[in-house]
Amino acid sequence: MKSRVIGIDLGTTFSCIAHLTDEGPKVIPNLDGMPTTPSTVCFTSSGEILVGNLASRQALSNPEKTIYAVKRLIGRKFKSAEVEEARSRMAYGLTEAANGDVLIRVDERSITPQEASAHILDYLRRCAEAYFGGSVNECVITVPAHFDDHQRQATKDAARIARLDVLRVINEPTAASLAYGLDRNPDGLIAVYDLGGGTFDISLLEISGGVFHVLATAGDDYLGGEDFDQRIIVRLISDFQSKFGVDLGSNPYSLQRLKEAAERAKRDLSFTQETEINLPFITSDPSGSKHLQTTINRATLEEWTRDLVDRTLPLMDKVLRESGFTPGQVNDILLVGGQTRMPLVRKRVGEFFGKAPNTQINPDESVALGAAIQSGILEGAMKDIVLLLDVTSMPMGIEVENDGFEKIIDKNMTIPCRKTKSFTTIENNQRRVRIHVLQGESPKASENTSLAMFDLIGIMDASAGIPQIDVTFEINADGMVKVSARDVVSGREQKIVVQSSSGLSEQQIEGIMLQEKQRTAAKSIP
Ligand code: AMP
Repeated sequence: MKSRVIGIDLGTTFSCIAHLTDEGPKVIPNLDGMPTTPSTVCFTSSGEILVGNLASRQALSNPEKTIYAVKRLIGRKFKSAEVEEARSRMAYGLTEAANGDVLIRVDERSITPQEASAHILDYLRRCAEAYFGGSVNECVITVPAHFDDHQRQATKDAARIARLDVLRVINEPTAASLAYGLDRNPDGLIAVYDLGGGTFDISLLEISGGVFHVLATAGDDYLGGEDFDQRIIVRLISDFQSKFGVDLGSNPYSLQRLKEAAERAKRDLSFTQETEINLPFITSDPSGSKHLQTTINRATLEEWTRDLVDRTLPLMDKVLRESGFTPGQVNDILLVGGQTRMPLVRKRVGEFFGKAPNTQINPDESVALGAAIQSGILEGAMKDIVLLLDVTSMPMGIEVENDGFEKIIDKNMTIPCRKTKSFTTIENNQRRVRIHVLQGESPKASENTSLAMFDLIGIMDASAGIPQIDVTFEINADGMVKVSARDVVSGREQKIVVQSSSGLSEQQIEGIMLQEKQRTAAKSIP
C-alpha cells in the first residue's frame, strides 16, 4: 500500500513531509533531493516566489523580502508580546491588520502569515506530486501541542490555501511518539522533549498494547533554536559596536549574514569545541570596509544559553506533577527538534530524568513520519497501532462576572471530548447572555485568549439566578472547538464552531486561492 496522503511537519525553520508505504513511513525528498526544506519564502524583485533552499539562498541579497519563522506569527495578534519580540529581530516588516492580526509587509502590499505558510505548503505539495507522479491533495499536518485554537485554525487555513485537505491536525510530540513506537515494543511511560526552531513542547505518554495515550503536555511557544541564535547575534553586534562603533543590527543585509553565521556556529558547536565566525566586508564606513572575525567555544555558548535550556525544566516538572509520576518512572525520553542536538540540552534532560535520552530517532524527521503513520491510522492501515488518544493543552471556558474565568474543559482532558456546565443570569428578566469563549490558565478572563463571542437571546423572563443556561464545549480530534449555549426552560439554543475571532474568513481564503490561481496561470502563458 502506498498512500497519497502526506504527513506534514510544518516547522518554524525546517519542514519535512512523509508518506506511508508497505515498509513503513518514508520521508519524501524535496525538489532538491533533500529530506528537509527551509520554511522560507522569498519574493524576488521580478515577481517570482521562491520557497525552501532557493529562498534561503536569496536571503542575503534580499533580506527584507525573505520571510522565515512565520510559525511564530501565525494565529497571533500584532500587539502580543510575542509579535513585539519578533519585530525587534526580523529583517522583514510587520504591520497590524484591521482585525488586530499580524501582516507581513512585502513591498507595497501585505500578506497574512497564513498566505506565507501556504507558499511553503504548496511547495511541499509539489514535491510530493513530483515524487508520486500524480496529484496530492490530502494531508495530516502537525502543530505544537500547546498551539491554541487560533493557531490551529490558521494552520488549517494555510493548508486550504495550498489546496490541501487536512484530514487531521495532530500534535508534534504525539506524532514523534508514533514514529518511535512503530518498530519497537515500547509499552511504558515515555516523555517527548521537542525543542525545534521556535517552540518547545514536552509531552508524557503511556503506551500500552498499541494504545498511545497522551497523559499531559506543556510547552513554551516562544522558546526554540532561534533564541539560541539570537544570543550569539546579540553578542556579535555588541562586540562589533564596541570595536568599530557601528551597529550591525540596523542594517538588514549585515543582520542577515550575522543570522546565518550564528546559526551555523551554533550547529558546529554541537560537534566541535570551538568554531570561527568569519564575515569579511560585513559593513563599511568612510574609513573603509569592516570585517567581523571571532571564535566562539562550546563553553561560552553554553554560558550564553544555559537559562534558555533551563526554562524547559519547570515545564517537564509540570507534566510529571500533573500526571502523578516522578522523573525516575519514565522509561524512555525521545528527543525531537534540531536544537536537541546541542550537548547541553541532552545533558540537562539526562540529569533531570536520571537517564540518558534516546538518540535513536531522527529529530528532524520523526514528526513527519508520525504524521504519515497517523494518515495510516485514519485509513485503517495500521495493524499495530490501535488508538491514539491525545489531550487538550490548555483549559477552556467562558467569562463570568467580575472578569472571572470559569473552566469547562480542563487541561490534559483526552480528546475528542464534550462537557457541559450550567450557568444563570445576573439580572431580573435578563433576556440575553453573552458567551465569551476563552482559552488559558488565568482565573481572570482578561488575561486569557479570547476565542469567540456570541449571544444567547430569548431567555424566558425570570428573576436573577433562576434561568438555567447550559454551556457545552465539544472538542474534536483535531483539537478544534464547538460551543453551544442552551436556555433549558425555553429550549432556545445557540451554537458556534469556534472560528477564530481573528484569522481569515471563508471569503478571504477563497479570494487568496483565486489570486494564487491567477498568478500561476498568468506566469504560464508563453
Ligand atoms: P526543527 O524546527 O526541528 O527543524 O529545528 C530546527 C532548529 O534546530 C534550528 O534552530 C536549528 O538551528 C537547530 N539545529 C539543527 N541542527 C543543530 C545542531 N547540530 N545543534 C544545535 N542546533 C541545531
